[in-house]
Amino acid sequence: MSGNARPGDEAMLAFEPERGSDHDPSGVVPFTILSVDDDPAFQQSLRLALRDFRFQGSPLQLLTASSAAEAEVLLARTPGVSAILLDVVMETDDAGLRLVRAVREELGDREVRIILVTGQPGVAPMQQALDQLDISDYWLKTDLHRERLQGVLTGNLRTWREIHALGRAKRGLQRIVHAGRQLAGLRDLGDFSQRMLHELAELLQVPPEGLVCVRAEHPEAPAPQARVVGAAGRFAALNMRRLHEVDEAGVRDLLLRALGGRTSIGTPASQVLFFDGDASSPDAAVYLATGRQVDAEERELLRVFATHANAGMVNVDLAARLDQVAYQDGLLGIANGNLLQRELQRHLDAPGPSGQAMLMVDLGQYTHGSLALGPEQGDLLLGRMAERLRELYPPPCLVARLHEGTFAVLGPADMLATDPVAALESVDNDHALPFLGVDAARIALDGYHGSAREATSAGLLLLRGLRASGGHGVVDYSPETERDNRRRFLESRALYRAVGERAIRIELQAQVSLADGRVVGAEALARWTGEDGVEVPPGRFIPIAEATGLIVPLGTQVIEQACQALRAMTAAGFGEQTVAVNVSPLQLRRGEFVEELLAIVERHGLSPRRLEVEITEGAVMTDYQAGREVLARLRRLGFPVAVDDFGTGYSSLRYVHSLPVSRLKLDRGFTAEIGSGAGERSVADMIIALGRRLGVDVLAEGVETPLQAQWLQAHGCHCAQGWLFARPEPPEAFLQRLRAQAGRA
Ligand code: C2E
Ligand code: CA
Ligand code: CA
Repeated sequence: MSGNARPGDEAMLAFEPERGSDHDPSGVVPFTILSVDDDPAFQQSLRLALRDFRFQGSPLQLLTASSAAEAEVLLARTPGVSAILLDVVMETDDAGLRLVRAVREELGDREVRIILVTGQPGVAPMQQALDQLDISDYWLKTDLHRERLQGVLTGNLRTWREIHALGRAKRGLQRIVHAGRQLAGLRDLGDFSQRMLHELAELLQVPPEGLVCVRAEHPEAPAPQARVVGAAGRFAALNMRRLHEVDEAGVRDLLLRALGGRTSIGTPASQVLFFDGDASSPDAAVYLATGRQVDAEERELLRVFATHANAGMVNVDLAARLDQVAYQDGLLGIANGNLLQRELQRHLDAPGPSGQAMLMVDLGQYTHGSLALGPEQGDLLLGRMAERLRELYPPPCLVARLHEGTFAVLGPADMLATDPVAALESVDNDHALPFLGVDAARIALDGYHGSAREATSAGLLLLRGLRASGGHGVVDYSPETERDNRRRFLESRALYRAVGERAIRIELQAQVSLADGRVVGAEALARWTGEDGVEVPPGRFIPIAEATGLIVPLGTQVIEQACQALRAMTAAGFGEQTVAVNVSPLQLRRGEFVEELLAIVERHGLSPRRLEVEITEGAVMTDYQAGREVLARLRRLGFPVAVDDFGTGYSSLRYVHSLPVSRLKLDRGFTAEIGSGAGERSVADMIIALGRRLGVDVLAEGVETPLQAQWLQAHGCHCAQGWLFARPEPPEAFLQRLRAQAGRA
């Protein structure tokens, strides 16, 4: 409760002093009596006897029926009949009692008082039946003179009134419990208010017509500024308007008085409930057009209702604060991914162009270096990043953190046009860590067809794609890159399954000695037949495997299969054959790689000499020192090491002399040049000469013509691989080739 003097929950719904009363003619409902008798004379005398009868100042409404059947119809149509004067014998001897049974059991009316009357003495029903059917009186017509009749009726009406009030209170309380349940789950103030109006109307049995207003901004906000948060019936259009905009002066004034005086107000035609807020929930007032005065019992019920509703209101506000938690980044206090998604979706859903764009900014330095930075430094870095982004993209732009070092900015496209990478990396701060490795992706929302979630993941994929391709800077979204990314995403999932199911196979491509054309070994090449039965070329799935890290388990499977093939060759008497496997930088970089490789080879009972490791020059050059050490260890253990695609990397010639490798593989691009410009000094020539100087073997890849083979041999290249000799083939076919060569086919 706020600084209000009224203590306790009962004060929650304090009513203004009574205006009007139960005697107010507009508030009085006459009691209804039904007389059922087939004797018109008795009906007539009854009417006369009750003509000026009053109960608690109110006249009677007298209904008549001349048969049990007619009475039943009448009762079903007229709820709230207080008493029935019933002739026992009508159509049949027991027509009266049968009607009573129907009233109690079929119509379910346990409140209406029943007074049996009869013209003939001696037809009194058994006492048991009277008790069972809750029949209060049994009279001979002749005994019912005017005074006695009025006395009997007064007693019965009094009883009815009490039973009825109890029943109504019980139903009201049930209604309140029900309402409490309905209201409890609602988190949104609008939903809550709307539901409250309906429950309140239900409780008072009036149509829902009214409004709820809340002093939403702050507790001291002027009452006319209160916000309409729920409206029903003729007020429906006022939802979300201010109280001063309510044009029905009477209604507006009542609400103002309730909010100003912190009190509930009842009038002959309406009811205003005041809800006293507290530190966490604002004051509120509900206006309901009841069309009648609310009586004392109903006021009691309203009090109970208000207690329930007030508790619900606090929950709604709590929910709003939970939302705040849900929509804020706990560390930086800026928006989080949830809020971004919500706002993004709002723009995407808006009809027509919004002119908005989303920028995703990734601080690679944090993602890769957070361990090295330590948590405090890392947090500091993120905090400064948030600050810088807010400087660069002031409101209305929304700056949010998605996760780790990834931020997003949502705002007008022209405000997001500046290059965030240049702006962030060129930070002029000399006493703090500079921002490094910033990458960004930008999506213009106009023309983007997808959900917020899809837009966010498209942005993240763009960032990842940028990094995977070794790029740096800002990329802009286009539907083509999206399609590409989407395909890659789907393929990566399928590849994940394929690796899990060990569905990747190898093929072996023969490597021959040029001197005699004999097969001396093979290269293992990964093969993947997709779920649709179509082969996916390694040029497509290997980069995906590398980007997702799947290359590690996939690489291990290739090595395992290569070893199995080698074992089969040994068993078939070809123990001198070697198999080369392609090893990705990612595999090579893992500390366990060498040990794992050795363990596999030993498990297959093979000498390391027979398994060649093919690496690309890039693999060694990105981390020269570490790469060199791994290669040196492999060589010391006896594994041959080949540099794949040699000559395509710019640094190869400078570094190769210090690399512990045993073979260079001349890239097939250079092989293809052979024979085009005869005589001049080709790259192939240079590389072969380099190999000779360094004492390492050179193998030419992609040899397709006899001319190329001749040229290579003539220039001192001893080994080759290519379609001229053999295509990649299943291990079994390769073994067959070896057998044929040995004349043992
Ligand atoms: P790579 O290591 O340079 O493999 C040689 C590629 O040249 C193979 O393509 C092979 O089929 C193809 N080739 C062989 N002879 C000829 C020829 O005479 N003419 C032409 N035009 N091409 C020839 P493939 O099998 O499509 O593999 C492509 C690349 O995928 C490989 O290039 C390699 O970088 C990668 N790759 C394949 N398997 C693996 C693997 O198990 N692990 C890793 N990390 N990469 C792999
Ligand atoms: Ca290779
Ligand atoms: Ca190659």
